[in-house]
Amino acid sequence: CSRTLARTGCRNVCSSPSRLQSMSAWVIDQYGSSGVLRHTEEITIPTINFAHDVMIKVSAASLNPLDVNMRGGYGAALLNIRRDPLSMLNSFSEFPLILGRDLSGVVVDCGSGVTHFAPGDEVWAAIPPWKQGSLAEYVTLTEYEVSYKPKSLSHIEAASIPYVANTAFSALVNTGGLCRENSSNKRVLITGASGGVGTFSIQLLKAWGAHVTVTCSQNAEGLVRGLGADEVVDYTSGDVAEKLEVMQRFDVILDNVGGDTEEWAIGLLKPWSGAKYVTLVSPLLLNTDSMGLLDGTLNAGLTLHNKAFQNITSSGVFYRWAFYAPDGPALDEVSRLVDAGKILPVVEAQFPFTQVPQAFQKLEQGHARGKTVVKVA
Ligand code: NDP
Repeated sequence: CSRTLARTGCRNVCSSPSRLQSMSAWVIDQYGSSGVLRHTEEITIPTINFAHDVMIKVSAASLNPLDVNMRGGYGAALLNIRRDPLSMLNSFSEFPLILGRDLSGVVVDCGSGVTHFAPGDEVWAAIPPWKQGSLAEYVTLTEYEVSYKPKSLSHIEAASIPYVANTAFSALVNTGGLCRENSSNKRVLITGASGGVGTFSIQLLKAWGAHVTVTCSQNAEGLVRGLGADEVVDYTSGDVAEKLEVMQRFDVILDNVGGDTEEWAIGLLKPWSGAKYVTLVSPLLLNTDSMGLLDGTLNAGLTLHNKAFQNITSSGVFYRWAFYAPDGPALDEVSRLVDAGKILPVVEAQFPFTQVPQAFQKLEQGHARGKTVVKVA
């Protein structure tokens, strides 16, 4: 693993922008619709606080549905506990809050314990949702969350990948049990395949040799076939479940749509063979927001337990929820696949930093075909 190669060039350096005090960023000061986004030049620069911190000058960021949801307050109850575990005792506020989960940029400073990166390195990363985001000039992360950017991509292209890649790894690898070594004889169904997570997942699974069936709108068929999808089912004409039922059963289903999808999708898995249904659309954060942390977590846990129990006992299939998880080493692997030409960025739209509200509006219109990227610098 390239992470075992220690780099010795990191230290706190005088070239650091830490002598500057403020930076440009898009922030929100309250939760709400697009009107709450505010541009400011007066956000304190996030300098190095810990030995393993890496400070990055952001070149490009991208938006995900999570940004629109977080702008409206989604997940605030759980994320605030992570931001400040003592928030019930202190007068903590998450505002001004910076959105944006993906970045591509250049390292400008490192903590004394950082061994893998040095100032000047071009990197990419996905930012945990409890940290300040990438719609800003600078971001500071731990070195575990950061990875070398693929050399073959521009910053704009690179910024479209980290969050969906880390989400796909979490769902397909950590939760779905797939990996490079075991995917070649697997049949995988991806619902909602034309968006950010779907377009990445198709390519990852094809790079690992899986057979990939997808659902999407008819007008996205060319896109997903171009990325490698073997079978494409149009969910906008006719009964999607009926069309899938005549196909061979699946080993893994990645559900990017949620809602009633699980009612017809789980029956498409191979019974009693370790097959897994993995959904990215779970009620956990909605529950903690509406019921409070304890009741919301308990309620979600009970729902998950009941569904998992019912599915394993009735048909021997695993029912699982997956969540985005920051993972620099997974991005290292993605970087190699990108530079080998196995994974392409899918940038549907790009906006200058002055037009972040317009980028949010684009995302809110739905019907994504890949990713929306913001050029920060
Ligand atoms: P996008 O908005 O990028 O893509 C969603 C895609 O699904 C669009 O292309 C849309 O196109 C398509 N779509 C909508 N309805 C259907 C349907 N019924 N059948 C098939 N396709 C459909 O979202 P992402 O790919 O970024 O994320 C997918 C989901 O996963 C989102 O709900 C997101 O919130 C969630 N997510 C959860 C994470 C977690 O940690 N749990 C992490 C990341 C994402 P069209 O409407 O034109 O068909």
